[in-house]
Amino acid sequence: MRDAVSAEQQAVFNRGNNVGVLAQQLFPGGVDATSGKRSNNGESVKRTQELIASGSEVIYEAAFQHDRVLAILDILVKKEGKWYAYEVKSSIKISQTYLLDASLQYWVITNSGLTLEDINLITVNSQYIRRGELKIHELFNFTSVKKDALKNQEMIKENIDRSKHVLEGFSIPDISIGEHCFSPYPCDFMKTCWKNVPKNSVFEISGIPKSEQFNLYNAGFTTIKKIPKKNDLDKNANIHIEAIKTGEVKVDLVGIKKFLEKVKYPLLFMDFETFMPAVPIFNNTKPYQHIPFQYSIHFKKDKNAAVEHFEFLAEQGVDPRRSFIESLLKDTETEGTILVYDVLMERNVLNGLKNDFPEYSAVIDSRLKRIIDLVQPFQERSYYHPAMKNSFSMKNLLPALVPELNYSNLKISSGSIAMIAFEKLQKETDMFKILDTRDHLLEYCKLDTLAMVKVFEVLEKEVLKLES
Ligand code: SF4
Repeated sequence: MRDAVSAEQQAVFNRGNNVGVLAQQLFPGGVDATSGKRSNNGESVKRTQELIASGSEVIYEAAFQHDRVLAILDILVKKEGKWYAYEVKSSIKISQTYLLDASLQYWVITNSGLTLEDINLITVNSQYIRRGELKIHELFNFTSVKKDALKNQEMIKENIDRSKHVLEGFSIPDISIGEHCFSPYPCDFMKTCWKNVPKNSVFEISGIPKSEQFNLYNAGFTTIKKIPKKNDLDKNANIHIEAIKTGEVKVDLVGIKKFLEKVKYPLLFMDFETFMPAVPIFNNTKPYQHIPFQYSIHFKKDKNAAVEHFEFLAEQGVDPRRSFIESLLKDTETEGTILVYDVLMERNVLNGLKNDFPEYSAVIDSRLKRIIDLVQPFQERSYYHPAMKNSFSMKNLLPALVPELNYSNLKISSGSIAMIAFEKLQKETDMFKILDTRDHLLEYCKLDTLAMVKVFEVLEKEVLKLES
């Protein structure tokens, strides 16, 4: 049975559809070949042929079929009597997978009887900066991929023949799980094929190549406990293996103390949420730029003080950057260390805001200087819990260190879901839905910084425990 589509996957599909529809404006006045019911591909193929025959020169969602293989092309255009194919990708880069997709489309279209003068991929131009109205011709890049498509024709034919042979057979091919389950994307059938992979399998060691995981698995070392002491894995993977085998938490008092000595009260535990619209919504922003829209800060005056909470969530539909930075600077005025967890995003956002608002550059710098990354003692394995699975994501760390706090009951339970939720709000008009989403966003971001407070307290307690 096919796995359910996750909220993150659905958001990627929606983004692709939205960018595809926008790109139609590059060739305005076209006719959509989609039949009333999207699933009726046969009708779409027929309608495409009718549109071509009746003289349509721009066709959206043009459908073709050859040798029982269907291809649906985003935009088909006739210029000076010649046909040009355009496939739209919401990405900024052309991947090998896109080239293979285009090659398959070329094979189906040309073999179905239409000669193509060229086939192009339309991608998002990462260098485009929105200034005022959206300039659609500057937002997209065109790349001819006909050469690649021609080069791949024989291979496409062979693969189609092989697939047909499988489909015509009476049994499911006996293929074991392997690296192919992740290439080019994680397969939709993993819940079925991977159901016999045991708990604590070698695949639960993050940070090592898939090829190494499969080497171990295929050699019979299916679970971490079976991996021999002498192996080719790196030091960090072996720390995880050891932790799983012994079930013990590794605590390096010297490392933790060294980290804690750098941290000065009062403490601010800070976390940002950003969203990255493929098509820039606000002036002076680029495609996929991180736009900060929310932060949460927990404040602790001294070791024994109760925590206070500050938060910011931008209004939807307006550029949040100025109000975000002005509010943040106010809420971080006090002295002391600013703790973040995995600093890269926060640092990038603050550096980006320095460019956007040069008048705040010096004061943003003063905040940047106070930031210390709470991930450090975990990354350096000064504290290592078997449940961390060689990964330092807060989602792994929290259930291990602070089981009473967890993300599982939250409607918004990850940064990527928060990102999708806020992007959706930009067009939402239903006030109940807006308020509901905002509540969930606030709840999620607040938990992120409360989690940091609790994780930090665990480190402090470890030092106390071992010293006493
Ligand atoms: S073996 Fe892997 S790639 Fe093949 S169907 Fe199963 S999960 Fe998908």
